[in-house]
Parts: sequence; structure tokens; C-alpha cells
Amino acid sequence: MAHKTEALFRDDAYLRTADATVVAINERGGIILDRTIFYATSGGQPGDSGTLECADGSRIEIAATITGETKDEIIHVPAPEQAALAVGERVKLAILWERRHLLMRMHAACHLLTVVCPFPITGAAVSEDDSRVDFDIPDASFTKEDVTAGMMDLVRADHPIFTRLISDEELAANPGLVKSKNVRPPVGTGNIRLVCIGESASVDSQPCGGTHVKSTGEIGEIHIGKIEKKGRENRRFRIRFGPMPAN
Ligand SMILES: [Zn+2]
Repeated sequence: MAHKTEALFRDDAYLRTADATVVAINERGGIILDRTIFYATSGGQPGDSGTLECADGSRIEIAATITGETKDEIIHVPAPEQAALAVGERVKLAILWERRHLLMRMHAACHLLTVVCPFPITGAAVSEDDSRVDFDIPDASFTKEDVTAGMMDLVRADHPIFTRLISDEELAANPGLVKSKNVRPPVGTGNIRLVCIGESASVDSQPCGGTHVKSTGEIGEIHIGKIEKKGRENRRFRIRFGPMPAN
């Protein structure tokens, strides 16, 4: 039977440490806790790495975090050669914060890109130094300079980023909220998490389960490194940190 892990990062993406209890160890050695701050790989955002500290001070390195049989079951995958934990044991969790914060900045930057390029999204992948979003774009006139300028305007405006829950019915009444061409947010759970940008979501809102920084200013300087053509109407935009290199 799948466990339901309390996902503390959904309400507070800035939690770096927390306490939890081991509720199960799966047949592959994956650790399941009652609650966690470790984000599990999904929606194009990679899962967290970090450590679990036992009562005796020993540490278990967590190499990856994934979902199990259901999206609600979060599995902490230990690095090779780690000590074994017992069900019922209390542990102190710590995520690799520097990496997570880069992912939060990058993930939020992907949302800004979808504001500047308001076209159906066909794919996305976030990583700590380079992220990509693929769009179905009939118009090939976008340049990396223009798109970078549009994104940096939103960064400099320092808009708030926050989440809000809406019902399945509200989502059904506002189909325009869904920007993804192929992926539909899960319905039937009663609540859909919207990630909103700007006062009263004036800049953007879209369903997303990932972790983001709390304002666009915190993203910092970013640029479009490349726009690649992937088929007749498909364009892949690559986001990188820092100013656009002069050439
Ligand atoms: Zn997101």
C-alpha cells in the first residue's frame, strides 16, 4: 500500500531542515518518512539531495528523491553504502539548500518565460545551471535578446510569487490557466495548486506543484542562452543565469 507523505515544501519552499519519523523502507532500500522537505522529481524539476541525521549523530546521504506508487508517496533514495534505518526511528532532515535555491530560481524563471512567450508548452526541464522550455510557436520572430529583455523586466519589477488552491470546478471554468499542451493537472483530488505571479496574480497564474522563489527579483539576472528549432513549429528556449554573453 502506498504511503501519503506530508509534503512540507508545498507550503514553505524555504524549509532547509525538519524532523520526521521513518514509516517504511521499501524493497530497494528507499526511505519513506511521515513528512519531508525533500522535493520529489516531477513536473520537470529534479528531486532534492541532502542528509538524514539519526539520533546517534550518524548521517545518511540522500542521493535522490522520487515519487513511489502514487504522487503522494515520497521516497528518499540513499547513496550507496549507507547505514540502514529502522521503522519508527526519528531523523533530522537537511536538504542541499544551495542546489535547491538554484532550482527554485530557475523554476520561477521558467514561469516568466511562459509569460513572455504565451504559447502552448510541449515540454520543460529545470536544472541548476541550464533549464529549457519547449513551445509550440507558429511565429519564428522571437529573438533571445527580446525574450531576455522581457524576462528581465519582470525580474526587475520584483513581483511577488505565491500559491493558491482552487477547486476542480474553478479550473474547469478557466481552461486558459493550463498552458501545457499535453499535460493536464490532476483533477479529482478536490484542489489544484496555482502558482501566481504579481499582486492578485496580475502577471500570471498556472497549475504547478514545484518549488519557486518568493519574488521575481530573487531570480536574479538570467538570459536566454539559445533558441533551438525542434520541428516546424516547436522551439526550445534555454535559460541560463547571469548576463547574456557579449559576442
Ligand atoms: Zn512551477
